[in-house]
Amino acid sequence: MKDKQKLPDAQPEKTGISRRNFLKTVTGTAAGIGISQMFNPALIQALEKGLERHPVLWIQGQGCTGCSVSLLNSVDPSIADILLKVISLQFNPTVSACEGEMAMEHVYEVAKEYQGRFSLVVEGAIPVAENGKYCIVGEMDHREITMVDMVQELAPMAGSVLAVGTCAAFGGIPAAKGNVTGATSVNDFFLTKNISTPVVNIPGCPPHPDWIVGSIVHLLEAGIPELDSDGRPTLFFGNNIHDNCPRLDDYDEAFMAMSLSDPIGCRMDVGCKGPDAYADCYKRKWNSGLNWCVNNAVCIGCVEAGFPDAMSPFYEPAY
Ligand code: SF4
Ligand code: SF4
Repeated sequence: MKDKQKLPDAQPEKTGISRRNFLKTVTGTAAGIGISQMFNPALIQALEKGLERHPVLWIQGQGCTGCSVSLLNSVDPSIADILLKVISLQFNPTVSACEGEMAMEHVYEVAKEYQGRFSLVVEGAIPVAENGKYCIVGEMDHREITMVDMVQELAPMAGSVLAVGTCAAFGGIPAAKGNVTGATSVNDFFLTKNISTPVVNIPGCPPHPDWIVGSIVHLLEAGIPELDSDGRPTLFFGNNIHDNCPRLDDYDEAFMAMSLSDPIGCRMDVGCKGPDAYADCYKRKWNSGLNWCVNNAVCIGCVEAGFPDAMSPFYEPAY
């Protein structure tokens, strides 16, 4: 974890609120309301004033880059604000300009310079079979660097690790039935390598950008967030989708949809996994609050440790 900077004591600013109280209040409020509250301009100003942008190294193993793309889709705050005002994204293979040996050297230099003070984001599962040869991510000093090497070498140097996406958090699709690459989650990998850096799991296929950004801000402002038994922040993954679904009344009245083209009715009989899934999609929604899975499809439980095998088949037409 990055050392928390001591905030000055009650020194009223122009607003009449001390900076310490302001941050405390806004961070607390954000937990109950949502991410956009975390990033109101005043908070960004406060972050700009007092805290160095937090260095982040983002590495990718067995994934589809969907988690990176999801972060890039962040609307409120915009990705520009996140990158320019909140974090210092030092490397991400999807968007970084440098590549090859230069990229590898940069990653390792940053890790050394900010040892214990940077966050490592792992996207994708880690393929441990065959000494990691299924995922060679670069070359440096005449040696091939695999995803296994990178996580093993960088994670102990990091202050915290964010396992972003269900593949990194639980193994996900690469670890599904037929897994020949030894695809492994971050936490399982750490267990085999005795790595003790704290891990925050942010699952989802892909995760909502708010879950990623909100977890990073929580790390900066208040440390590791409260986690559930699967290592996920309860702030975002604490409630059951079915219990909060707008179709719950239909379920209670046994009014069931028979296909996805039925505009109303509970979708359990066509495969909805909402009862098994814990996330706040029902209120946060996607694409800037426009829509969510149960509106026009079903929940496939993409945030759960058993995804995808335990959640298959995703869709089961009732006729
Ligand atoms: S549609 Fe899914 S989440 Fe909603 S009430 Fe039915 S089973 Fe539960
Ligand atoms: S509604 Fe279900 S499938 Fe859709 S994003 Fe949320 S947890 Fe994943």
